[in-house]
Amino acid sequence: MLLLPRGGLSMAPHSGMVSGMDPHASQPATRMLKLIDDLGEHLTLLQEQEVRTVEVTPETLHALSTAPAAAPPPPSPQPPPRHSGEPDLSSPLDAIAERIAHCRLCGLCETRNHTVPGQGSAHPEIMFIGEGPGADEDRQGLAFVGRAGGLLTKIIEAMGYEREAVWIGNIVKCRPPENRVPTPEEMKSCLPYLREQIALLQPKVIVCLGATAVKGLFETKIGITKLRGQWMTFEGIDVMPTYHPAYLLRNPPAKREVWEDMQEVMRKLGRPVPEKK
Ligand code: SF4
Repeated sequence: MLLLPRGGLSMAPHSGMVSGMDPHASQPATRMLKLIDDLGEHLTLLQEQEVRTVEVTPETLHALSTAPAAAPPPPSPQPPPRHSGEPDLSSPLDAIAERIAHCRLCGLCETRNHTVPGQGSAHPEIMFIGEGPGADEDRQGLAFVGRAGGLLTKIIEAMGYEREAVWIGNIVKCRPPENRVPTPEEMKSCLPYLREQIALLQPKVIVCLGATAVKGLFETKIGITKLRGQWMTFEGIDVMPTYHPAYLLRNPPAKREVWEDMQEVMRKLGRPVPEKK
C-alpha cells in the first residue's frame, strides 16, 4: 500500500539527484531512473484525482521492473540529400535555375535529360554565352564541359582568369535534338532567363560565342564572320562576338582571330594583354 501525501509529490529530476546513481550509468540504471520519473508522474495524476492510496502488488512491481525499455523516438525526417549541381534556392541565381529545371515553354523540354542553366562566378567580369547544350552538357547539366568546353577553358586561362571566375552559359538551356541549331522561337522562349541572369550578374563584358549566340541576343541576321571583333551593346553592357570553340576545333587557324578578339576584351577590362598566344 502506498500513501500519497496531501502536500503534493516532489520527485527530484533524475539527473544527479538520486544519490548513488551516476548520470552516465549503464542502461539498467537509466531505465530505473525513467521508471521513477514515470511513476512520479502517474502518482501525481492520481493525487490530482483525489486518490489517496494505491495498492502495489508484488506482480505489479515485477511487471514494472521487467517492462521493456521505451523504444527510442524515431529519427526526425531529414531532407533528401542534395546532388552535386542541384540548386540551393538561397540565391536569386539558383531560383532562376530552379525555374529553368521545371520549364516547359518550348519543345526542347521533351528531349532534354538535364537543363543547363549556366554556371560560374556570381560576380564575373566576363560572361561567355554559347548556343545551347550538347550531349555532354545535357548529361551533366553543366555548360561547356565537352571538347569545346576544354578549349574554352584554355582561352579563359590564357586571358588570365580561372574558369570559376567567369560565368558560362548558353542562349537555350535545353539541348536541341542531334545538336541542331535552336529555332528562333526556341531562342525567344528561353531568352528571358538569360536576360534575368545578365541583370543579376552585371558583367563588364559579354562574349558571344558563335553566330547563334549573337542571333539569339540581338535577333540579327548578320553572320558571325562580319560581326566578330566588333563591339556591340546589350542592355548597356559591352558585347564581343567571336567564333564558337566548336568551330575552332574544326578550323584551328581561326584561333588567331578569336585570340585577337579576346585581346580586345582584355584591353576593355584594363587587364594586361599577352601579345602572343
Ligand atoms: S530551352 Fe529554355 S524555354 Fe525551352 S524548355 Fe528549355 S528552359 Fe524552357
